[in-house]
Amino acid sequence: MKTERTSWGRYPRVKAQPVHPVSWTSEPLPVPPAGGTLLPHGQGRSYGDSCLNEGGTLLTTERLDHFLGFDPATGVLRCESGVTLDTIVRLVAPQGWFPPVTPGTKFVTVGGAIANDVHGKNHVREGTFGRHLRRFELVRSDCSRRECSPTENRDWFEATIGGLGLTGLITWAELQLRRVSNPYILQETIPFENLEGFLSILEESERDFEFNVAWVDSLARGRHLGRGLFYRGDYAPPQFDAVPRARAIPSGLGVPFDFPGFALNRVSVAAFNALQYRMRPQGLVHYEPFFYPLDAVHGWNRIYGRQGFLQFQCGVPMSHAGVDALREILDRSAHSGMPSFLTVLKVYGDVPSPGWMSFPKRGFSLALDFANRGERTYRLVDELDAVTRRAGGRVYPAKDSRMSPESFRAYYPEHERFARYVDPAFSSSFWRRVNGAG
Ligand SMILES: Cc1cc2nc3c(=O)[nH]c(=O)nc-3n(C[C@H](O)[C@H](O)[C@H](O)COP(=O)(O)OP(=O)(O)OC[C@H]3O[C@@H](n4cnc5c(N)ncnc54)[C@H](O)[C@@H]3O)c2cc1C
Repeated sequence: MKTERTSWGRYPRVKAQPVHPVSWTSEPLPVPPAGGTLLPHGQGRSYGDSCLNEGGTLLTTERLDHFLGFDPATGVLRCESGVTLDTIVRLVAPQGWFPPVTPGTKFVTVGGAIANDVHGKNHVREGTFGRHLRRFELVRSDCSRRECSPTENRDWFEATIGGLGLTGLITWAELQLRRVSNPYILQETIPFENLEGFLSILEESERDFEFNVAWVDSLARGRHLGRGLFYRGDYAPPQFDAVPRARAIPSGLGVPFDFPGFALNRVSVAAFNALQYRMRPQGLVHYEPFFYPLDAVHGWNRIYGRQGFLQFQCGVPMSHAGVDALREILDRSAHSGMPSFLTVLKVYGDVPSPGWMSFPKRGFSLALDFANRGERTYRLVDELDAVTRRAGGRVYPAKDSRMSPESFRAYYPEHERFARYVDPAFSSSFWRRVNGAG
């Protein structure tokens, strides 16, 4: 079966790839045709080419969608790797449990969350998804199976967390969930005038609040460079347990067609930014709009049109060099004539991840979305990559479609050790690109 699968950014576009749906955890992996390769594929919520395998076969996991066990007394959940966080949250939240780490969309699979070792708005307190894994099973193309945990096959455990789907197929995983009292977050929204304003709110917020994230007005320049809104919050305590769900969350909204390329321009981005700046949600909010603001509009990636878009997400150190890099990236973006539609600033703590290739490191994270305007956009993203490298930062593979082999080697010093654990029959478009074979 050949099907076109794109990643979330719809760039790069690859030719339709053969797809092999994996249906049973006990199934042996297919043998790829001569010279061909395999790559696991979850919900394709990665933005660039790390979930694509041009010329190779995708092992899709939609059918690996069964729960295998849940203990409501301890919050230990075992499920197949194609189960999504959406399904998990719907099962466990009413029972007072929640994934300790969740990315900005719940439409990702457990396998995808492990392979990118995803993080949320609480990295400072909880680290990455991989930190809360108790064990998983890894199947290799030679049909070997390993149960991996911090104490069993530990090297495979650490190589596979953040291992970009290259070490084999994860069939099931066991996660430790965390207790929550109710489905609410107590949120504060604080405007800041520029990057310095962000930094001064950050210190106290990091200490006193679990969740911290900021939206940045990508068009602001000069003394307003980096202005935006700081969102911070905590799970609401038990006195809010009895509050009825205050505001219905619109669901089922969708973008019915690809927007024409010109729809996202300086004027529309400025209008969006002005509206965003006026909206300042405060107080008790449901976890849905707090954690997953974009999920309410299904297929929102279509507003970028058929050419798609590129996200650039970097992490830079918490130092003068890091702050200068943030300033330079925002400045280059604001002056590029290709404004970022959504710009998000976060902070990472120093809770270590078990994953060798895990992206977050103590510092700042900045993510920008650029509509794909061809060479101009690629040049801009390449420049931002160079700024990040000079600052001693790194780019997130889950969001990337441009980093060079030199950048990859500089960003991920563990890559050589990791490469020894890559399955000989597995590869991806990303992996070939950053190894100079793309
Ligand atoms: C709106 C939005 C917001 C996001 N916010 C965040 C965020 O806040 N933080 C963050 O870290 N990320 C974020 N992301 C990125 C997203 O969380 C990751 O890309 C995630 O890994 C996607 O999961 P997926 O199931 O769609 O996997 P895919 O994108 O299909 O695949 C991702 C990787 O996982 C591998 N893989 C998938 N299944 C398996 C398996 N069973 N066994 C082995 N390998 C497997 C694939 O080979 C690939 O390398 C966001 C994405 C979107 C669209």
